[in-house]
Amino acid sequence: MKLPSALGVISLLALSVLSWPAVAPTITISVDATSAPRKILHASLKIPASAGRLTLYYPKWIPGEHAPDGPVVDLAGLKFSIGEKILSWRRDTLDAYTIQLDVPAGAREVDAELDYLSPATLEGGLSAGSSATDKLAVISWNQLLLYPRGWTSDAIKYAASLRIPEGWKFGTALPIATQNNNDIHFATVSLTQLIDSPVITGEFLKVVHLTDDPPTEMDIAADSAADLEAPDEVWDHYRSLIEQTNSMFSAHHYRDYHFLYTLSDHVAHFGLEHHESDDSRTDENALVDETSRKVSASLLPHEYVHSWNGKYRRPADLIIPDYQQKMQDDLLWVYEGLTQYLGEILTARSGLLTLDEERDHLAVVAADLDHTTGRSWRSLQDTADAAPQLYFSLPAWRSWRRSTDFYDEGTLNWLWADVIIRQQSGGTKSLDDFCKLFHGKPSTGPMVKAYTFEDVVSALNQVVPYDWRGFWSERLNNHGPGAPLGGIEGSGWKLVYDNTASEMVHAAESRNNSVVANSSIGMMLHDDGQVVDTIEGMPAAAAGIGPGMKVIAVNGKQFSRNEVFRNALKAGQNPSELLELLVENTGYYKTYKIDYHGGVRYPHLVRDESRPDLLDEILRPQGASRETPKVLEGTIW
Ligand SMILES: [Zn+2]
Repeated sequence: MKLPSALGVISLLALSVLSWPAVAPTITISVDATSAPRKILHASLKIPASAGRLTLYYPKWIPGEHAPDGPVVDLAGLKFSIGEKILSWRRDTLDAYTIQLDVPAGAREVDAELDYLSPATLEGGLSAGSSATDKLAVISWNQLLLYPRGWTSDAIKYAASLRIPEGWKFGTALPIATQNNNDIHFATVSLTQLIDSPVITGEFLKVVHLTDDPPTEMDIAADSAADLEAPDEVWDHYRSLIEQTNSMFSAHHYRDYHFLYTLSDHVAHFGLEHHESDDSRTDENALVDETSRKVSASLLPHEYVHSWNGKYRRPADLIIPDYQQKMQDDLLWVYEGLTQYLGEILTARSGLLTLDEERDHLAVVAADLDHTTGRSWRSLQDTADAAPQLYFSLPAWRSWRRSTDFYDEGTLNWLWADVIIRQQSGGTKSLDDFCKLFHGKPSTGPMVKAYTFEDVVSALNQVVPYDWRGFWSERLNNHGPGAPLGGIEGSGWKLVYDNTASEMVHAAESRNNSVVANSSIGMMLHDDGQVVDTIEGMPAAAAGIGPGMKVIAVNGKQFSRNEVFRNALKAGQNPSELLELLVENTGYYKTYKIDYHGGVRYPHLVRDESRPDLLDEILRPQGASRETPKVLEGTIW
């Protein structure tokens, strides 16, 4: 790539710029990912610069991660030079993401070399978690670059190239300029678009064309070829997801969309949204194993919805000019909460889960929130306000601390809002109408349209007049016990508990190697007996058991998931018997007697025949008729 001159043309984009040179720079970046299986990536950058102090930033606030979690600790091998001359550099003592160096007179550009140390063992942590195996890798550009101070990320341009291991294939939404075997040169794009466009690459990579209109495809990398051979019906469900989602919104805000789907037991599992793609990672067998498919069913629907809700419509407090300014997470109950709800109902509408399975899943969500005792001290709003910390909180004490509950509680609250719209409008309107109004026409390329709390209230009132401000204020700030069940109950269903676990409970427990007894004695365990969490006020906690302890034996018999623990809970229905747990805690052993006689309890939704069944109406596939959205000219990044 040839660098354009830093002098000459006056750019309109540079009007807000602080200092010379007046034109936002174009930086070239060449990433060598051929050592990805060794978990190290190398980047070479050419950064236009002139004499004086050069301030460079490593991206800190990562879009979609809602936190200052750019992995600067994994930036290594940093070296700056001009020709043969090595330039010394120093980190800002107040901000680890800021690097400064002095550029000598006469210089036009600085060469930078750096390595990104990808986690070498399986670790969590979103896009900075484990991202490479022997057979695949996900390249997140924000981990591999620096950018100069003085311009917005929309203004700075990058001409990027990537070398992948010999014989590997790749998928990305980033426009490709040229390709020569394993060397790919991408079109010059803004820093915003580059960071919004990760690359998935692997030896076993399958491209599945989904739809022409809108153009969508899946680029799936897996640790073995067999992982990619899903039954035909799976691809049909994903095609249906495209149709149902576009019908819901009536327009879209991307040019073409790539599901970048990584299937591996050796990478971090999460989904990260982008305008024209998503970086979603889950179990190696998530396409070929039915149980695993169910557990991961709502992952891609959630991330796809984000192209509308989160990337296109975005809380004003989350829009920052570059990755250095602070984000504020107070509206994540819309950004993530609404996305979680829409993702769930689209999972059912597209057939990725049956109606029964989706209802069983909703029952699990409601039961979990029903046993979140931390709601007595922490409001739902505070889970959003504190999200940058809560995303990294540990599972221990989750019930009492609360976690990023605005996801699952968002499902229940937005279901409630959907039910209110349907009731208030006499069945003529639904939350789908809000989606069309708020996120819909006209179709555009990627662009960002800001909103505030007032805008959400106003749009809901346009769909159907109601005290939406009061509704959301109550939902966000109350400290009442129990999950918000108004939506489930208003839609004609009731949350009940019985002694039979649903398929969704079995699937989640077997996938997570866990035992969920939060509705009975108030305890979650790993299947080796390790206590993950206990629920304050419930029998296990009342007996003195807490997270981090390990159950060794139950009523005198060695702990094992089903045979002992569940049977003991069943046997404990005799009022004269106590459940006795031998527990190890930091090297000490002790027997705890739990006075509980309720047996095993699992959540379900059952029909309330006194009310119309709105829930199934919401979850059923919607009429497919829709106009063909046209993408407007003048794409804005
Ligand atoms: Zn999300």
